[in-house]
Amino acid sequence: MSFDATILTLYPDMFPGPLGLSLSGDALARGVWSLTARNIRDHGLGRHRTVDDTPAGGGPGMVIRCDVLAAAIDANVSEDDPRPKLLMSPRGKPLTQTYVRELAAGPGAVIVCGRFEGVDERVIEARGLEEVSIGDYVLSGGEMAAMIVLDACVRLLPGVMGKEASGIEESFESNRLEYPHYTRPREWEGRPIPDVLLSGNHALIERWRREESERITRERRPDLLTSERD
Ligand code: SAH
Repeated sequence: MSFDATILTLYPDMFPGPLGLSLSGDALARGVWSLTARNIRDHGLGRHRTVDDTPAGGGPGMVIRCDVLAAAIDANVSEDDPRPKLLMSPRGKPLTQTYVRELAAGPGAVIVCGRFEGVDERVIEARGLEEVSIGDYVLSGGEMAAMIVLDACVRLLPGVMGKEASGIEESFESNRLEYPHYTRPREWEGRPIPDVLLSGNHALIERWRREESERITRERRPDLLTSERD
């Protein structure tokens, strides 16, 4: 079973973009996951393939029309498609590692990328789009947000990361940020690698890492320690 991603966007040429390189690119080439980017404008209206219009009630910017976006969804996603349909949106549920794991364990995702002021509310309801945010800031479009969702999912797919275990101890798993890493040289600009890491005592190393992990989380993200979101 592979992870199947369909992107609906006004800029399909942005894909695969960075997802075509490195870990995700290798996995794409090996068929561990697949990516299809479709242009919403193919379903635009009239000679100019219009996709947007002015907001009802007035105000700045343009809104993607519900009929156009629904036509794009319907042309690319069958009714019995088991994949969740996401809409990238700053109003959405915040993307977390827990949600990424859920997505990565499933059949893939259909991801709608907004532009301009966003999309007509009615298509969100009518097509059951799940709004997902990558953070509390506003981007100019959903494409890079979609890439972030996919990058986070793809690295968790079986056989993508070198070592299966390397996904387990990472930041946000068990609500902790990761401990510090070191590698050669043993001393650099007067800074040694902490002795315990060179001791060969695995119990001690594990304890040091757990304590560092807790210290860093307490200092930088105390909210994670009390968080129920994961
Ligand atoms: N007027 C909207 C912002 C539109 S930004 C508002 O205030 O909520 C244009 C598009 O960029 C959005 O439709 C969405 O698809 C994408 N986008 C912007 N910020 C995002 C974020 N933090 N997470 C996910 N998608 C985002």
